[in-house]
Amino acid sequence: MSHDNTPAPAANFIRNIIDEQNAAGKWGGRVETRFPPEPNGYLHLGHAKSIFLNFGLARDYGGVCHLRFDDTNPEKESQEYVDAILESVKWLGFDWGSHLHFASNYFDTMYACAEYLIQAGHAYVDSLSVDEMRAYRGTLTEPGKDSPYRSRGVDENLALFRAMRAGEFADGAHVLRAKIDMATPNINLRDPAIYRIKRAHHHNTGDTWCIYPMYTYAHPIEDAIEHITHSICTLEFEDQRPFYDWLLDKLADGGFFTRPLPQQIEFARLNLTYVVLSKRKLIQLVDEKHVSGWDDPRLPTLVGARRRGYMAEGFKRFTDRIGVSKSDGWINYSVFEECQRDVLNDSALRRIAVLDPVKLIIDNYPEGQSEDCFAPNHPQQPDLGKRAVPFSRELWIEREDFVETPPKGYFRLFPGNTVRLRYGYVVTCTGCDKDADDTITAVHCDYLPDTKSGTPGADSVKVKGNIHWVSAAHAYAAEVRLYDRLFKTAQPGQASGEFLDDINADSVRIIRAQLEPALKGAAAEDRFQFERHGYFVADRVDSKPGAPVFNRTVTLKDSWVKSGK
Ligand code: ATP
Ligand code: MG
Repeated sequence: MSHDNTPAPAANFIRNIIDEQNAAGKWGGRVETRFPPEPNGYLHLGHAKSIFLNFGLARDYGGVCHLRFDDTNPEKESQEYVDAILESVKWLGFDWGSHLHFASNYFDTMYACAEYLIQAGHAYVDSLSVDEMRAYRGTLTEPGKDSPYRSRGVDENLALFRAMRAGEFADGAHVLRAKIDMATPNINLRDPAIYRIKRAHHHNTGDTWCIYPMYTYAHPIEDAIEHITHSICTLEFEDQRPFYDWLLDKLADGGFFTRPLPQQIEFARLNLTYVVLSKRKLIQLVDEKHVSGWDDPRLPTLVGARRRGYMAEGFKRFTDRIGVSKSDGWINYSVFEECQRDVLNDSALRRIAVLDPVKLIIDNYPEGQSEDCFAPNHPQQPDLGKRAVPFSRELWIEREDFVETPPKGYFRLFPGNTVRLRYGYVVTCTGCDKDADDTITAVHCDYLPDTKSGTPGADSVKVKGNIHWVSAAHAYAAEVRLYDRLFKTAQPGQASGEFLDDINADSVRIIRAQLEPALKGAAAEDRFQFERHGYFVADRVDSKPGAPVFNRTVTLKDSWVKSGK
């Protein structure tokens, strides 16, 4: 597992529970967790929180974390999702070793458990319609009432359940229910359904089964089969915990599992501003083509995040920073960006890119001549050395680095002003060319030959402005994608109830930029800081050898704060 030499993690309430149990000797020091995605969609940033929590606890306590596909619902699951989930967990730096499991491989045990519950008088076959069952269930304030089928005898229940399995009934004709208490205040304990008839092809078991276990029944059994110690889930399952405990207790009595039994612990899910973290909404964005696919760099999916250039290490920093708690809240997206920026700042090599190019012509520099200037690969890490950047008579500079009439405090190019071409010479601006529409087509200047950066006496001319450039004859012209947030509002859909209303129509701008020649050799997923512009990654899908395409991962500063958006 990666992330080995990081400092000790901050305490949280789950660690406290484990520490107390270890002190009391409950599990003999064993910590066995699981990350249990349902393969019905791609993983998103919320799942990353759960992944770091579960795999992180296992790592820190010398335990193991299982990757378990909770694939008990045949209708929405597929191999495509299974493959993508495996890749994303690996990408985040985790290794499940031999602990890769599929809940559907436990269908036989789940079925045997159900027969046992019937025989022990803890389950019965109900034949009410869906509507009747709802009416019998009661409400939060009124108790439910017993189904007329609740008093069926064991033999009748067993025969009916076996006939359900044998395919003798239509979908929905009967369900198997736990027999607990229809009057209890916790509605989840009012004889919850545990098996339903559903003729659907399953991605793993094919057409073997026409009855499938309900999630709330299957999950505790999966945990117990795998000897999970701490079954960590999000807060919405808190009310299910009594059923989790009831079920495993009964099955331990029946000799299926030994005590101590897995313990369910709930934590607050991640809510992040400016994104949607719901599989249903993500599927809608993809299906309705609001984005280019699951790995669209604007999506908060892990495949999208990877393509965007975010780093696994940045996820680690983020999950450490936000911690784990029992109370729901919102995390600002800029916290996530800040963590990514910190990690990128340490690791990304510096390069020069002109995103909105206009020509700068140095009239007193010989035509056809060129020479090398030297720029540090990482100013805080001199051991990473310098690279040569070619200099010549015609350069690309940013359009915004020249104005004819400077506003107050503008130190870049304007007629008569002197600036340094970063890592190169000092130049004095002499004017510009314009076309019929008054658009500036080229800026002119003269250079001062004794001022080349790095040569003796080069700094004798003091200037306030410092601008970046790329030699026009040597530049690599590339497609660059500049991303903005996919949603205009912090909590998409909050105002209108429809999250699609809040889509930002300008969430991507595709430009043709002029890049320093070294960038032509970038491999897919190589990351750089383009000076002044932010962190960029060579797109892992669209880059070709010798022709990388770049995505902006994040700007250098939080532009949303700066612009007051
Ligand atoms: P859906 O969005 O359809 O409700 P889900 O996000 O619950 O699905 P699962 O595949 O069941 O999808 O999730 C796997 C694990 O990830 C679960 O243990 C779940 O609690 C956890 N998880 C999902 N979303 C978040 C989130 N926003 N924050 C933290 N953990 C999450
Ligand atoms: Mg779920």
